Amino acid sequence: MAEVKKLSRHIEAAWLQLAYYLYSLKHEKGIEFEGILLFPKERETEKVKLTPELESKVESILESMKPVLMADQPPPARRIKYCRSCSFLEYCWADEGLG
Ligand code: SF4
Repeated sequence: MAEVKKLSRHIEAAWLQLAYYLYSLKHEKGIEFEGILLFPKERETEKVKLTPELESKVESILESMKPVLMADQPPPARRIKYCRSCSFLEYCWADEGLG
């Protein structure tokens, strides 16, 4: 499985995103893959293997998300520094103007 990213600037987030995909494939479909992060502009690649440690980290993050997912209402939106380069910018902040 390969995930293409523009830049390696947010590599930890990209790493965890791919780890989550690998985790889901393993636990929901019984398929085990290794992953590759591709940064074409920088001609860089990073292999991502779902080790027991990485699997525990994914599970820990999923556990920490439960209170938000189980709440009746989501917490108020909070604009953060990553919003400007996030691919969801238009969905989150369309009513308030982009940028
Ligand atoms: S644009 Fe939305 S999803 Fe992206 S970082 Fe900001 S709040 Fe999070």
